[in-house]
Amino acid sequence: MKYLDEKCAICGGELVEKKVEKLLRGGKNMASLMVNAEVCLHCGERFYTPQVIEQFEKIESELEKDDPQDIKAVGRAFQIAS
Ligand SMILES: [Zn+2]
Repeated sequence: MKYLDEKCAICGGELVEKKVEKLLRGGKNMASLMVNAEVCLHCGERFYTPQVIEQFEKIESELEKDDPQDIKAVGRAFQIAS
């Protein structure tokens, strides 16, 4: 975990750089990945670099396909009826 000079754009709190788990959705599919993000210690907001956001968009469009080619399934997702 690395402290950054910048402050949170939302609350002005302290920002740290760390790995976070991000959940992505596309169609009925979901994927999780670990990425570097800047996280506010005060409000918990996460900030991503444009490159990381681009990566999210690529994965999400891949997930929208019925059979994502570049993504390996590691389990099944379940929806709980309410
Ligand atoms: Zn904040």
